[in-house]
Amino acid sequence: MRSMVLLRNDLRLTDNAAIDAAYQEGKDGTIALFFLTPKQWQLHGVGSPRVSFMLNCLRSLQIELEKSGTPLLIEQVDTYEDIPLRLQSIASQHDCQSIHVNREPGIDERNCDDACATQLGIHDISFQVHDSNTILPIHEIVTGSGSPYRVFTPFCKQWHQQLESRGLPVFNQPEVSRVLDLESGTIPNEIPGFIPWKAQHLWKAGSDAAHVLLDKFLDDAILKYNDKRDVPGETGTSTLSPWLATGAISPITILRKIYQRFGENSEDWNIGVKSWVNELVWREFYRHVMHGFPKVSMNQPMVEWAHNIQWREDSAGLQAWQEGSTGIDIIDAGMMQLKETGWMHNRVRMITAMFLTKNLLIHWRHGESYFSRHLVDYDFSSNNGGWQWAASTGTDAAPYFRIFNPVRQADTWDTSRTYIKRWLNRTPMSLDPIVDLQVSRRRAIETFRAAKEFATDKSKGGNQDPAIRSDAI
Ligand SMILES: Cc1cc2nc3c(=O)[nH]c(=O)nc-3n(C[C@H](O)[C@H](O)[C@H](O)COP(=O)(O)OP(=O)(O)OC[C@H]3O[C@@H](n4cnc5c(N)ncnc54)[C@H](O)[C@@H]3O)c2cc1C
Repeated sequence: MRSMVLLRNDLRLTDNAAIDAAYQEGKDGTIALFFLTPKQWQLHGVGSPRVSFMLNCLRSLQIELEKSGTPLLIEQVDTYEDIPLRLQSIASQHDCQSIHVNREPGIDERNCDDACATQLGIHDISFQVHDSNTILPIHEIVTGSGSPYRVFTPFCKQWHQQLESRGLPVFNQPEVSRVLDLESGTIPNEIPGFIPWKAQHLWKAGSDAAHVLLDKFLDDAILKYNDKRDVPGETGTSTLSPWLATGAISPITILRKIYQRFGENSEDWNIGVKSWVNELVWREFYRHVMHGFPKVSMNQPMVEWAHNIQWREDSAGLQAWQEGSTGIDIIDAGMMQLKETGWMHNRVRMITAMFLTKNLLIHWRHGESYFSRHLVDYDFSSNNGGWQWAASTGTDAAPYFRIFNPVRQADTWDTSRTYIKRWLNRTPMSLDPIVDLQVSRRRAIETFRAAKEFATDKSKGGNQDPAIRSDAI
């Protein structure tokens, strides 16, 4: 029997359930396939940094796959809608009787999987979806009543219980399969619509680079993670997010290495290790939310009352934020780091996102889309989760009245101004802020309170005029 693995955000050999299953079945050989879907990426707002890094990871994986006797075919279609027919035609052409894929939480990917299963089923080709892009199958973690969790803490508790009872999943590393007389496809250097990314040299693509980075992080920085994770001027975090986003490394591999270094009992871990694993669980939580509440994939806020928020149309403010010219040093330094490297420290992501959605009162979707176009680690669920957290429109989000003061945040987390001096392209405190932080804070609280009260009045049958409404962006 010949099998096929359809690759997406799982560009690795190790701990890849779909590859493992395809190799188990493919006694007569396995073929790997990747679809370039530029129009779909544009529809999803994916930018050049993420696409460049993904293509580089794909190149590295192609070499690894070929060593295992597996050709990696590259096909280009416009959108996911084109995939089912094309997939079936390629599978039939190469006589593959089964296709394996790793699960994605977004609604478009899931609809695509359903359509593939139907189309392939007509031709007696099986289509199987596996789980290895998260440590546990996130859709199987549900409340007592069988619904998805909305709040992180109970999700996390349940997640740990499930991990304890199921144990860490184990997948085989592929062995050399029957070598097929088939050439791998060519991975393009450039894709029309995506400008070549000038900072790609900063991010060494591929699984090997991820393993090196992980080992180095586990050697030392993880033990101080709890103290250093919020200090943007220091390298206190792993910076593994681009590899996790493209799947060049699986979180399962990461947790296994943690077990090997620090033992399997999380009670025995140092606080740094505990905090870091907690962040991996946040990653799983946002995927769980995206899977459980498809509206998240459809530009909708998680909380209903957020539809009533009267966001401001402020193109000058949005432009100043994007260009790093708001006059607030920590914000502008963060936006410069993003532009120059494709990455921004988590604390600064929170500060910049809260400033945009609260002080400028600009719709979070503008920020979400700017980040998606500029982040090398762009990941739909984590980005959406981060933005809806900052905007107080998400599940388990920051309460709307608790608004970061960016200047105080910088005083607390960038005490010696290391971060600001490193990224700001002007002398610190040399530009007047575009908004008064106190006045804009009060405006945000009033606007959010009004939106929430209107929702409460409506649910009580009130007929107050909905003067506050968010428009589609
Ligand atoms: C507005 C906003 C947008 C964001 N957009 C993205 C995004 O597009 N892609 C992305 O991977 N992360 C996103 N994050 C989450 C977080 O900022 C990054 O994951 C983190 O900065 C990556 O750096 P690191 O690898 O050094 O993280 P570490 O601190 O070393 O954490 C390890 C891993 O845990 C995961 N993780 C850490 N923090 C979070 C978090 N808050 N939510 C979900 N997962 C987390 C990441 O996969 C990360 O690589 C966003 C956060 C905010 C506030």
